[in-house]
Amino acid sequence: MKFLFAILMILTLCNSGCNNPFTAAERKIIGTGNDMMRVTTIDNEADSTLLRRTSRPLRKKDILSEEFTTLCRRMLSTVQNPENEGVGIAAPQVGILRRVVAVQRFDKPGEPFEFYVNPKIVEYGEEMEYSGEGCLSVPEQSGDVLRSQSIKIEYRDSNFDLRTEAIEGFTAIIFQHEIDHLDGILFIDRMDDDKEEYFEE
Ligand SMILES: [Zn+2]
Repeated sequence: MKFLFAILMILTLCNSGCNNPFTAAERKIIGTGNDMMRVTTIDNEADSTLLRRTSRPLRKKDILSEEFTTLCRRMLSTVQNPENEGVGIAAPQVGILRRVVAVQRFDKPGEPFEFYVNPKIVEYGEEMEYSGEGCLSVPEQSGDVLRSQSIKIEYRDSNFDLRTEAIEGFTAIIFQHEIDHLDGILFIDRMDDDKEEYFEE
């Protein structure tokens, strides 16, 4: 019993101290407070390399950490900043290669921003349409991208329980754009060359 108690004590201490969920470099970027973060952009060489990398999934202990709460709060300040307002943001856009995105839910009352951990698109609807896209990380560019009008996603909620949800319309487009960021894909990669020419003519 005493032995078990000792193990539990060590586990508890480890939870708060060792085995930190984020690396020292990530913690430095996440920082503290509520301010917006620097947005990584493709016109910066180091940022561009980072934006092309694949992000790592988050574990339960990561999302229960103070750093994760701070990261979400600051990502929200960033995407809601009047200077670079957006409808979604992915962690690589603030320099953190972790699988978390914020999406403005235009399909919900009040159009709130919500965070999705380890999001994955598990089903694409057959109906596809072009719509105009832009990105905080791709300055001064926009273009038409062909995307599914409905998707089914899987993600982890705040308890790290697995959830699935069907999403349609503009909100589904935002999810596809943001989840692409987690795999180093930008909307400009998906722009249809023929379509582009069509619009230029
Ligand atoms: Zn983007």
